Amino acid sequence: MFKSFLGGIHPQDGKKLAMDKPIETMPVPQELVVPMGQHIGAPCNPTVKVGDMVKRGQLIGTSPAFMHADIHSPVSGKVVKIEPRPHSGMGSCMAVVIENDGLDEWADGLPLTRNWQAMENEEILTAIQSAGIVGMGGATFPAHVKLKPSKPVDILILNGAECEPYLTADYRLMLEEGAKIITGTQILQKILGVKRTVIGIEDNKPEAIKAMTQAAQGTNIEVAALKTKYPQGAEKMLIKVISGREVPMGGLPMDVGAVVQNVGTVAAIADAVEHGLPLTERITTVTGDAIAEPKNLRIRIGTPYQVAIDYCGGFKEPADKLIAGGPMMGMAQTTAQVPVMKGSSGILALTRKMTEHGPEMNCIRCGRCVKACPMGLVPSMLSILSERQDFAACRDDYGLMNCVECGCCTFVCPAKRNIVQYIKNAKGFVRAEMARAKAAAAKKAQENEEQKGAAK
Ligand code: SF4
Ligand code: SF4
Repeated sequence: MFKSFLGGIHPQDGKKLAMDKPIETMPVPQELVVPMGQHIGAPCNPTVKVGDMVKRGQLIGTSPAFMHADIHSPVSGKVVKIEPRPHSGMGSCMAVVIENDGLDEWADGLPLTRNWQAMENEEILTAIQSAGIVGMGGATFPAHVKLKPSKPVDILILNGAECEPYLTADYRLMLEEGAKIITGTQILQKILGVKRTVIGIEDNKPEAIKAMTQAAQGTNIEVAALKTKYPQGAEKMLIKVISGREVPMGGLPMDVGAVVQNVGTVAAIADAVEHGLPLTERITTVTGDAIAEPKNLRIRIGTPYQVAIDYCGGFKEPADKLIAGGPMMGMAQTTAQVPVMKGSSGILALTRKMTEHGPEMNCIRCGRCVKACPMGLVPSMLSILSERQDFAACRDDYGLMNCVECGCCTFVCPAKRNIVQYIKNAKGFVRAEMARAKAAAAKKAQENEEQKGAAK
C-alpha cells in the first residue's frame, strides 16, 4: 500500500537529467573555501591560523556552544586565508581557505577500523559528534544532538524520499551504497533502542526501493513505498504517513516518539563510527537545463560551485537562476563562488525558459494554496498579513510557525504571488523578536541576581 498525506503538489520532477548518472568522484580543487557556519546553531571559530599546514580530517573549527557541529579540513594543505567569503545561506560567512598540497594526506590515525557492535552508546555518540555530522538532506541539524532525545522514542524513520525535483544524490546513494546505509541505520537502532525502523522512499524510485529492500534483508528494517508527492520528504509528513502520528504545532518529532534521519546522514554516520572519518565530502547533484552534463558528484566540502559546474562541462545555455538545493526549498544565489557545504544536496542551474513566470498580482481568493498546503494553513492570509507587516496576526491567528516552507502554495498560485517568501519574512521577524525578548529576559534575570547580591 502506498502511503501519503493531505495537500501537496506534483511538480515536474526533472530527475531524468541526472538519475542514471553513477556517483563520480570529483578531483579535489586547488583551493577550498570552508565556511565556519555549516549547521543550525552557533557558527564555529577557526582553530587554525593563516600559514598552518593541515591534513584531511583535522579539526579546523569548533564552538563552545551546545548546538554546533565541528568542522574539519577537507584536504591536506596550507591555510592561506581566514576571511569572510560568499555563503549560500547567509550571504557571507567567515571561512578557512586552504591551498591543496596535492598529497591528500589524512590526519594522524585516520582512517581507523572499529567494531561498532562492541562500542558503548556514549562512545558511538562521541564518534558522531567528533566527526561533525549534520542532517545532510539540507536541514543541517547537528546529528549528535538529534540522537540524544530528551523524550522516549520508539520509531526511527530514514528519509529516502528525496522529493525535491531535480535532486538525485540520495537516489544514487541508495542504489550504490545501500549496505553502508544499513550499517548506519543499525548503529542508530543500537543508540536509540527503537522498536521499529522504516526507510521511506517515493514510488517514483522503484530501483532504490528494490536496492534497499535487498540491502535490508535479514534485518528488522522495513522499506516503505510512499506515494510520489511533494513534500513527501518533509519530516512531519514522513512521520504522519509512516507512523500515523502528528507532530504538534511547534513540536519536535520526539514529541511523538520519532527520530528522522536522512539516508545520506546515516551513511556518513557509518563512516564516522566504523572508520573515524569526519565529514569532509558528500554526494551533490549538479543539474538543471543550463548544465552541459548533469552529474552526481562525490565532492569535497569547500569546493566552489563554479569549479563543480566547470567539471560538469559548464553552462550549455545562460543560467537565469543558480540555486543551492532544489527548486522548491533551495536558495537562489548571486554568485557561483559559494562553496559546497555539509548540507549541499544540489547545485541547480536553470535557464530563463524554466524560471519566467510573469508579474505578481493581487490574491484572487481562489483557495488553491489552502488546498495545496500540507500543514493545513491558510497561505493566502499569511502572505497578505505579512505584506501588511501584521506579523503578530500571522503568528497568533494563522499558525505561522507551523509552516515548513515547502513552497507548495507559491507553486500553485495563479496570481504568481511569492507566498513562501512573504511567510519567510514574517518568520524571520517573529524569530528576531523572540530572540530579543529572550535576551531581555536574561538581562533582567542577571540584574535581579546582582541586586540580590548587593542587598546581602
Ligand atoms: S504555507 Fe508553508 S507549509 Fe503551507 S504550502 Fe506554503 S510554504 Fe508549504
Ligand atoms: S493561490 Fe494565490 S490567488 Fe489563490 S487564494 Fe492563494 S494566494 Fe490567493
